[in-house]
Amino acid sequence: MAYDKDNIFAKILRGEIPCKKVYEDEHVLAFHDISPQAPIHVLVIPKGAYVSWDDFSQSASEAEIVGFVRAAGRIARDLGVVEPGYRVLANSGADAGQEVPHFHLHIFAGRRLGRMIAPARD
Ligand code: AMP
Repeated sequence: MAYDKDNIFAKILRGEIPCKKVYEDEHVLAFHDISPQAPIHVLVIPKGAYVSWDDFSQSASEAEIVGFVRAAGRIARDLGVVEPGYRVLANSGADAGQEVPHFHLHIFAGRRLGRMIAPARD
């Protein structure tokens, strides 16, 4: 899938729409999810134009990948969620329900998060 430069996270990166920023560096921006599914729900996105985890893991530079992974760990530590724990998740593609076509990692924390995957609905 080609990258859509008008997706909502691209607009956030360009400053065209606001976000509640929690972290930013050369490669990464992190902000609170607009519709949180846990007491803490933060999205971590690369600044580069990658559609999905598949695209990012295949096409991003070593510096972008290392920067992203280090930043995600640091953000969780800064949020104070290493204890009692947190979950990271990336939806990639249709079956996973990916809604925004700019790669992002979800960080969930602040309560018992339950089962890793919801029971099948079909
Ligand atoms: P996904 O289903 O993995 O693609 O997740 C997309 C996430 O982006 C959802 O949790 C949405 O609530 C969140 N989201 C959509 N628009 C915004 C926005 N403008 N600011 C912050 N989070 C957003």
